[in-house]
Amino acid sequence: MRYHDRAICLRSLDYSETSQIIHFLTRENGVVHLLAKGTKRKKSKTGGAIDLLCEGEVIYTKKDSDTLGMLMEFSENVSRSELRKDASRLNAALYAIELVYAMLPEGLAQSEIFTLLSNTLRRLAEKDSPQNAVLAWFQWRLLRHVGLLGGLDSCVSCGMSVEEMAHDDEVFFTSRYGGLLCSRCLAPGGEKKQADKIVLGALAALTAAEAGKKVNLPPNQAIAIMKLLDYHISQQLGKQLKMARYVIKT
Ligand SMILES: [Zn+2]
Repeated sequence: MRYHDRAICLRSLDYSETSQIIHFLTRENGVVHLLAKGTKRKKSKTGGAIDLLCEGEVIYTKKDSDTLGMLMEFSENVSRSELRKDASRLNAALYAIELVYAMLPEGLAQSEIFTLLSNTLRRLAEKDSPQNAVLAWFQWRLLRHVGLLGGLDSCVSCGMSVEEMAHDDEVFFTSRYGGLLCSRCLAPGGEKKQADKIVLGALAALTAAEAGKKVNLPPNQAIAIMKLLDYHISQQLGKQLKMARYVIKT
């Protein structure tokens, strides 16, 4: 079958002297793996090797979901060259595509995630955008979309509100439930990470943003929530993302 779609390059592997295997996130068909013959030749239709992060129109053929598809044409129209000039923003963008690749199964339609990723990469390329807040929002929305975040305004076990918990005790986040636990409901030795006042402020802000309110995520809250969500991601994947050590400051 022949497909025409919009795509962002998540991963590229050398296949031979002149060919690549490209993993794209497409708007209509989710993650697809394609053999891109001859793309590394200077005179190829794509004008050279396809780089990570670039976005454009793709035409490919694919027999079924298990086989490698064949790239017919890729016309890049968003090169992300601005992003490549700033190492810190580039690393954040590479973290974002690594996260998408790690979280999404092949072939499942993910148009919301395509739009989220495309907007995130565009925002990261804007010199004066709040880099950490942009990436924190991306982590949050992606985890929400794949069903790994629960309600974050009360204890997942007893239902005590976050205000009550924070008033006289410590609050914890548990990756197992993608939610918060009060100290009384915490299993001894169980997997957890403390959620301090800064994290709780960030959770409230992101929840409000999700409800359509215009919120401002200050840099300290953005960094704290990025760390917590990265912890959640590592727990779920059983490993840390490679880009995490360049992006998540400890
Ligand atoms: Zn509880």
